[in-house]
Amino acid sequence: MTERTLTIIKPDSVEKNNVGAIIAHLEREGFRIVAARMMRLTEAQARAFYEVHRERPFYDDLVAYMTSGPVWPMCLERENAVVHLREVMGATNPAEANEETIRALYGESIERNAIHGSDSPENAAREISFFFPETDLV
Ligand code: ATP
Ligand code: MG
Repeated sequence: MTERTLTIIKPDSVEKNNVGAIIAHLEREGFRIVAARMMRLTEAQARAFYEVHRERPFYDDLVAYMTSGPVWPMCLERENAVVHLREVMGATNPAEANEETIRALYGESIERNAIHGSDSPENAAREISFFFPETDLV
């Protein structure tokens, strides 16, 4: 079934000029870009986006990192998009990510791990609408 998910190319990837390589990787994996933008998250936006982690010890650092530079949120479409994106991203910690995954190739630490991917269809829907009005999904 064709499905949509949300990725964010994170500040470390933008800083290191890895945006094009990561988009090429995603396109090779059969994802179609349905919407994309480049932006700098405000602190309030980063806090709201990662709201589920507000009690975690890394929350403040995560917000600081995600607001440290521009990011590229994108809505992606593919068969089984949510699960497939999580597979091609690799584990949260790049040191534990499978070879040839985006985090293994481009991530540098458990925090600065190159890319975000929605973890369920429900969260994908919430996260897509966080960044894109329905009219921007083309
Ligand atoms: P994401 O939600 O960004 O796709 P994920 O689902 O693999 O990543 P989560 O557990 O949702 O991992 O954590 C969200 C983000 O918080 C991670 O991608 C990473 O940037 C940061 N993070 C997670 N765990 C830690 C940790 N132990 N120390 C520092 N930062 C962390
Ligand atoms: Mg997550």
